[in-house]
Amino acid sequence: MHASDELDLYLGRAFDVLALDARERLVLRTPAREVTAELLVEMDDGQVRPFRAYRVQHDDARGPFKGGIRFDPHVDLDEVRALASLMTWKTAVVGIPFGGAKGGVTCDPRALSTREHQRVTRAFVDAMHDILGPSKDVPATDMGTGPQHMAWVADQFSLRHGHCPAVVTGKPVPLGGSPGRLEATGRGVAACIAGYLRAQGDDLSGKRVAIQGFGNVGSWTATFLAARGARVVAVSDVDGGIHDPDGLDVEAVRRAVQAEGAVRAYEAPETIDNAALLTLDCDILVPAAIGGVLHAGNAGDVRARLVAEAANRPTTPEADAVLRDRGVVVLPDILCNAGGVTVSYFEWVQNLQGLPWEADTVAARLQATMDRALAGVLETAQTRGVDLRTAAFVVAIDRVAQVSRTLGRL
Ligand code: NAD
Repeated sequence: MHASDELDLYLGRAFDVLALDARERLVLRTPAREVTAELLVEMDDGQVRPFRAYRVQHDDARGPFKGGIRFDPHVDLDEVRALASLMTWKTAVVGIPFGGAKGGVTCDPRALSTREHQRVTRAFVDAMHDILGPSKDVPATDMGTGPQHMAWVADQFSLRHGHCPAVVTGKPVPLGGSPGRLEATGRGVAACIAGYLRAQGDDLSGKRVAIQGFGNVGSWTATFLAARGARVVAVSDVDGGIHDPDGLDVEAVRRAVQAEGAVRAYEAPETIDNAALLTLDCDILVPAAIGGVLHAGNAGDVRARLVAEAANRPTTPEADAVLRDRGVVVLPDILCNAGGVTVSYFEWVQNLQGLPWEADTVAARLQATMDRALAGVLETAQTRGVDLRTAAFVVAIDRVAQVSRTLGRL
């Protein structure tokens, strides 16, 4: 199912719960602005190449538009539109004062040199700078872009508008990035899982966890879950995974990945492929790689009782229904992986204040934000009698709708 159809399905369910009328649904679904630009970029060989670029600003009722810039060969307007909307609901569910946006450039990031990356990024800012700004629209990293790109975004914007680190988040720390941003999403995932178990009168000690994907999100989720007493029994990357029923030494796996680029560089008792990892006998499954990995074909075989969506859209709607029927609880992506955008918000606040925070302050405020968000979603799930994904959308939509009514937009 396409990203926008999937989102429509989830939004529709939440709209029904909130009994919103057709007009309200239309207003909440429709993006405020969609910009498409052709970036003409000089390549290293002297040729000029056009790259199509997008920025979709979905909603800014609760604060400036917020969302990453994606470099991906398959990115198109429909996808960016769906992702922009998703950001509106993600920022709302964790209660940070931002709206939702997304940007993209249709390019293959692996086929570009570093200098070409820089020129594409600066051309993107030149095309979009009028609609960006700390109180208008604040981009961030996404697939194919990282802190280096955000440094170029800040610099190119500042050339036109004066020094302005708050225009973008995910910057390197010396340029106004936040301590703790790198590990924020994984820290938030672990906090969400721990908080959910705590609400059930349970805890993480000895819980067997399988994590698909050992990149930024997967590896930090593993670290923080292990620190909270869980047993990380399997992890994987694009080349396959490793399994130890007694628990992997997560930091040793991280070192092996840093040295050799793959989790299989760590000598585990067993290897496991990505498909088998998803149906491994464990307590908690954390898909932290790509979308659509839990689908109609394997959801019936998932043995974990709790699935924490660290990746975006790892569960198809068909799989979601199968898991729900089987009593497997899913912590939905818009809640579970919102730690990253939460610390992006902290970065923006620090930039506006001109006052960096200590790493401990960032971690404590992230924990408090995730706890509060989870409590709101759990309470809504209970009072409305809905699953956690629907509850997360209900909380988010209700917040945006209330503000929009006050502003006279609904
Ligand atoms: P990353 O590129 O750092 O890591 C991705 C990991 O997934 C790597 O280990 C890679 O080898 C693995 N992988 C890639 N394709 C795979 C496949 N087909 N099967 C199994 N493993 C595969 O990316 P990341 O930043 O960790 O993001 C992971 C997911 O989390 C994405 O869905 C992303 O959209 C989502 N997310 C990331 C953040 C963030 O702050 N980085 C925030 C919210 C959501």
